[in-house]
Amino acid sequence: MNKLDTILVTSLLKEAGFALTDSVTDADVVLINTCSVRGHAEDRVISNLGHLKHIKKNKPQLTVAVIGCMAQRLGEQLLKHPAVDIVCGPAQLPQIADLIMQTIREKKKTLAVTEKIRQKVTSEQSQALEEFESIYDTEEQHLPGQAFVRAMHGCNNFCSYCVVPYVRGPEVSRPPQIIIEQIKRLAGRGIKLITLLGQTVNSYKYVNGEKTYCLAELLEMASDIDGIEWIRFVTSYPSEEFFDRICRAMADLPKVCKYLHIPAQSGSDKILLAMNRNYTSAQYLNLLDRARDIVPGISIAGDFIVGFSGETEQDFAATVNLVKKARYKNCFIFKYSPRPGTTADKRLEDNIPADVKKQRNIELLAVQEKISAELSTEFLGKTVKVLIEGLSKKPHLNTADGNKSPQLIARTADDRIVVFNGPAEMTGRFADVKITKTSPLTLFGELA
Ligand code: SAM
Ligand code: SF4
Repeated sequence: MNKLDTILVTSLLKEAGFALTDSVTDADVVLINTCSVRGHAEDRVISNLGHLKHIKKNKPQLTVAVIGCMAQRLGEQLLKHPAVDIVCGPAQLPQIADLIMQTIREKKKTLAVTEKIRQKVTSEQSQALEEFESIYDTEEQHLPGQAFVRAMHGCNNFCSYCVVPYVRGPEVSRPPQIIIEQIKRLAGRGIKLITLLGQTVNSYKYVNGEKTYCLAELLEMASDIDGIEWIRFVTSYPSEEFFDRICRAMADLPKVCKYLHIPAQSGSDKILLAMNRNYTSAQYLNLLDRARDIVPGISIAGDFIVGFSGETEQDFAATVNLVKKARYKNCFIFKYSPRPGTTADKRLEDNIPADVKKQRNIELLAVQEKISAELSTEFLGKTVKVLIEGLSKKPHLNTADGNKSPQLIARTADDRIVVFNGPAEMTGRFADVKITKTSPLTLFGELA
């Protein structure tokens, strides 16, 4: 979501006549797009602002804008920071160029956040957001040939630990026709892989008169677009609604990638209840079984939070147990970070010591790594279709071709990382790669 916002803000500023620079010392304006999901992400912003405060001593005309979730969460408080000139929440991003010009012109600090974040967005706001969405400049794409498309804004789930509903506002699904038109435009500009985004993208629901559109229909409509070859969607919430229909769309529509990112967060029913996740570990595993039944070969990824308030050794053992049963392709594992304003922060004590959180994180990662390694090995000798992302950060690791061509990094439709030697010009294109070696999270191979 943040990567998409960064692309849109960059596109908008370019259109308004700004030029990009990678160097802070060259810049007249610095924007920091922020995340509030964990304390660590916010700490890094504060540390960057400390650095910018220093730079501003010699360059007082430098304008600094903090945008995104942290801007919405802290508002006025953040504006008091000596380095900060503009604080702009996610809903105000369409105005960012004007806000910068106004701040420079009037030489005073500017605050633009939503006052009542849980209030329904007005039709003017939603029109501004739609125009902002359509500004996507494919030159700014995060990876060649790939684009993110927002299916929905916000979240209504209020998991007790999570700040998202307080900074991104209520859940709103975008009209399907607008999404489809947007994807057609992207396809016309050479985009091959679309990733539909939503905090709970599987609950996408748009009612138009008699007709209700769900994610399965959106996938079907997007599948009909010429030029688009792969369609992914993230992130899914473990809920019954639409689940089988979405799985069937994945099984039946060849362009829809057989990949499901469906966070469990914990394997303990007691902790799931405290987290306000509306399922038990048995219900969650049942969803995975159904997904695997309906979509043979599906790869599944998960998220977990370790060290949540009150998590005993027994609760953690239940999480380990669930990870073993779920057999994820990979997992994102986070140490619980209390977020101000959330129900968990207000009502529950953050009573798991930092070293225990760290130890549980390491232990769970090790359990997952063993499973990932086993699943990766199944690819040995197989040929997989990949979309090439670009040069690998560790070039020439694979010397199979005597280092004649650089090492490329690519991904399969089901989100597996593949590394092989090939011409850099293949970036943004599809290729077939024969897998010759595997590690838990990477497949190595040769161009087939
Ligand atoms: N909407 C998605 C969902 O419900 O799974 C993901 C949203 S969140 C931005 C991404 C992940 O961050 C979550 O799945 C969760 O594992 C983690 N997360 C959220 N709040 C957290 C917190 N307070 N401390 C640690 N991890 C957190
Ligand atoms: Fe946060 Fe839960 Fe919404 Fe995901 S579903 S964004 S974890 S509140």
